[in-house]
Amino acid sequence: MQIRCYNCKMPISIGRASVDQALNSIHEEDLSHFDFRCPKCKKTNKVSKEQLLHASPSWEYEPPKEKKKEAK
Ligand SMILES: [Zn+2]
Repeated sequence: MQIRCYNCKMPISIGRASVDQALNSIHEEDLSHFDFRCPKCKKTNKVSKEQLLHASPSWEYEPPKEKKKEAK
């Protein structure tokens, strides 16, 4: 997904992996948004959970503690 920095208007592209990571953090910490830092001016840009879900509709929370057993 791509956002635009509210401060310097620079487009910031956020990779799918980062979007998923942000959604995991939101889920774990019960947040309504995630802060992405602008690489240019270092200002924090808030991206809502809705926006992130829109960018990664197939995201599902996977608890990091729970190890999946591989059934073979
Ligand atoms: Zn900026």
